[in-house]
Amino acid sequence: MINIERLSRNIEELSKIGRTPNGGINRFSYFAEEKAANELVKQFMESAGMTVHYDSVGNLVGRLEGASDLPAILLGSHLDTVPDGGRFDGSLGVLSAIEVVHSLKENGIMLQHPVNVVAFKDEEGTRFGFGMIGSRAVAGSLTRKDLQRTDDEGISIEQAIADYGIPRRPLADSKLENIRLYLEVHIEQGKILENNGVSVGNVTGIAGPLWLKFRLKGQSEHAGATPMNQRQDALVGASLIIAEVEKTSKHFSSAVATVGKLSVKPNGVNVIPGEVEWTIDIRDIDEDIRDELERRIKQFAEKIANERHLKLEITELQRVKPIQCNEGLQNIIKESIEEIGQPVVSLPSGAGHDGMQFNGLFPIGMIFVRSKDGVSHNPGEFSSEEDIEIATKVLFKTMMKL
Ligand SMILES: [Zn+2]
Repeated sequence: MINIERLSRNIEELSKIGRTPNGGINRFSYFAEEKAANELVKQFMESAGMTVHYDSVGNLVGRLEGASDLPAILLGSHLDTVPDGGRFDGSLGVLSAIEVVHSLKENGIMLQHPVNVVAFKDEEGTRFGFGMIGSRAVAGSLTRKDLQRTDDEGISIEQAIADYGIPRRPLADSKLENIRLYLEVHIEQGKILENNGVSVGNVTGIAGPLWLKFRLKGQSEHAGATPMNQRQDALVGASLIIAEVEKTSKHFSSAVATVGKLSVKPNGVNVIPGEVEWTIDIRDIDEDIRDELERRIKQFAEKIANERHLKLEITELQRVKPIQCNEGLQNIIKESIEEIGQPVVSLPSGAGHDGMQFNGLFPIGMIFVRSKDGVSHNPGEFSSEEDIEIATKVLFKTMMKL
């Protein structure tokens, strides 16, 4: 049904682009490695029989016509990585979708629905602190204002798109109309499937990420000449708040919150930190719980800022609604898993995915693949060839049932 040797070869070949010395991958949006990855995947799409183009934000879009003029089935994932990321996160979804199309073509099967396979631009948000750029564009929700966000070098998304070689076109050109539904294969990035001893799982919903940027300003002064009781040390204030983020999150069973990025100014050994900036990533499947956690963290931060005479600023980087996967589609995925002779396990996704951007536009469904030890965003990320084959077969069967 599908050609696992070809799929494994493609995964291996793609994993060489952006490879770091310790076996991880660096592919950040609109940089050369990420462009090279897109060009390689473009070739894979073309040999699978698709017509391919880049849209106005640089999404790579492959199209296979159907037997009739019905709305298209949208498949996809992303090719960018986190710093020192793994070879399966994102890539697997794009390559397994291409493999399904290739197999359909090879076996002379023409679906009623056309199929669009998209490698979405910048899902991870590594470069601009603003993820899912490509899927937002496809959903039609990306604005010119969003494109003014800058990376650490001060380069805006708009500039990065131009430097990438994409002529300026209306963002609306990227919106895909007439879509029946969205399907994505992705590694689980957790241990639920492994703990259940199964290769694949049906995803019930996706926890929404809320990203906040905190800035705390105090006074940078000489570390030797300023007595302890006369300081406005921004880093000590930040440390108390960051420790509280962990403590408060533990009051909610399903919620998670992470401080993953921090910068200290002026960052000198003998200078009291005058300004600290950090991010907080807060997630839950339930939006009310996430809101409550956000409220408690902000309240605590304000208290610390007041007590220590520090100036606090909080900016919202992104707020994505948690979403539910479509029930009808989940049932078809579950049937397909059963037909392949696998036990059916359903689970929510703690990590965000491109499909979230399509909430309210068309139904979405996801198929998770077992991740060894639940590791992801790491060079040690691994899913076995056998599990990948089963997941791709589930995707193939699901497509056939549609
Ligand atoms: Zn991913």
